[in-house]
Amino acid sequence: MKKLWNNKNHDQIFEFCEEYKDFISQNKTERECVISIREMAKKEGYKDLKEIINSATPLKAGDKVYATNLDKCIFLFKIGSRPISDGMRILGAHIDSPRLDLKPNPLYEDGPSKIALFDTHYYGGIKKYQWTALPLAIHGIVCKKDGSTININIGEEAQDPVFCITDLLPHLDRDNSRAAENKINGENLNVIVGGIPVDEKTEKPVKKAILNILKTKNIEEDDFISAEIEVVPAGKARDMGLDRSFILGYGQDDRICAYTSLKAMFDSDENQFTLAGMFVDKEEVGSQGASGMQSLFFEDMVAEIANLMGETSPLSVRRALRNSFMLSSDVTAGFDPNYASAFDANNDAFLGKGISFNKYTGSRGKSGANDASPEYIAKIREILDKNEINYQLTEMGKIDQGGGGTIAYITANYGMNVIDCGCPLLNMHAPWEISSKTDIYDAYRCYKAFLSIKD
Ligand code: MN
Ligand code: MN
Repeated sequence: MKKLWNNKNHDQIFEFCEEYKDFISQNKTERECVISIREMAKKEGYKDLKEIINSATPLKAGDKVYATNLDKCIFLFKIGSRPISDGMRILGAHIDSPRLDLKPNPLYEDGPSKIALFDTHYYGGIKKYQWTALPLAIHGIVCKKDGSTININIGEEAQDPVFCITDLLPHLDRDNSRAAENKINGENLNVIVGGIPVDEKTEKPVKKAILNILKTKNIEEDDFISAEIEVVPAGKARDMGLDRSFILGYGQDDRICAYTSLKAMFDSDENQFTLAGMFVDKEEVGSQGASGMQSLFFEDMVAEIANLMGETSPLSVRRALRNSFMLSSDVTAGFDPNYASAFDANNDAFLGKGISFNKYTGSRGKSGANDASPEYIAKIREILDKNEINYQLTEMGKIDQGGGGTIAYITANYGMNVIDCGCPLLNMHAPWEISSKTDIYDAYRCYKAFLSIKD
């Protein structure tokens, strides 16, 4: 643990964070992240692995490829000069964030109030009351039966309307006080979408009027069945504090690590080991599903790449995975002065003290934890110190206070070395999360240095 702010890099830190703020402001769903990452990768010379497989083009050192699954996760590879069976250098982050999803039949009108609302089903670990009484945006995709798709993004531009979930006024909520979490349940999270009726005679006249508006965008009520629409906080990420040392933004868990990993991969000049960048979905709900880390998609892509590199034995894939070094890049809880009793000040992460490593995550007696080996940690310390990168070795809160998981335990199943490492946040999983700019830059520098780690 070294100095709080590295003033030597002050200008670079602020400059880097401007682009980071743009990234998280423009990419608020996993799909939007995949599309942006793919476009950025293409500009860096990455090619679609699918096309390379189809044309059976051999891969050689220096080649760069990407593989997308369901447009909800994306993997980047930069081929090294050594055989892939020697292992890869892997940065893995997730691009899904807690939010509210529209239910399959979302639109309804409340009888007495004549207000039209969208019914939602929350995704990930949220404190439900935090999602009330703030401006919300709607992002997503509607898939039509004819195969066409309609992209939705409403609430981000200054002239756009926004949406809101109500909370009860304090005047009528005398027994509320601090029991907010118990008062607002998942079924209360209904988003107001309209209040003007078509006419007096029609049944459910406000719902009808909303359906008319949707029709002008080629969306029928039934189309919600084949849609994926997410309700997220409206507005851009912003500098926070008089000194602008912090960033307040949505989805920093875990796009803060995704963006810094991506930039590190683009800027790395490592050419011996094959580099891999993982940007996966579903971490917030357990990493299942075709686009989550538990899917075999990553392993399959490694097999395809090994094959195109001329390593055709199935053993190469096993060796490539087993011999890899990985950073499971995910955020952790920053010590919060307002809730100090939840933390162990000697062992928790502080904002501004650099990138944070968790030897183990999990809960209770480390249940569900990946446990990084001290040999591996020593190797990482060496490279971080050599590059003068600020870092901290931390836990996540006091013992038995709670806990959490990442994707580390999944890739650890291959026998590879992996450790959790990311920026500490305040307000984690709240609609607006807080990060420290200096940690973001340390994360970028840490990931870049890590990619050049040798055997
Ligand atoms: Mn996370
Ligand atoms: Mn999370």
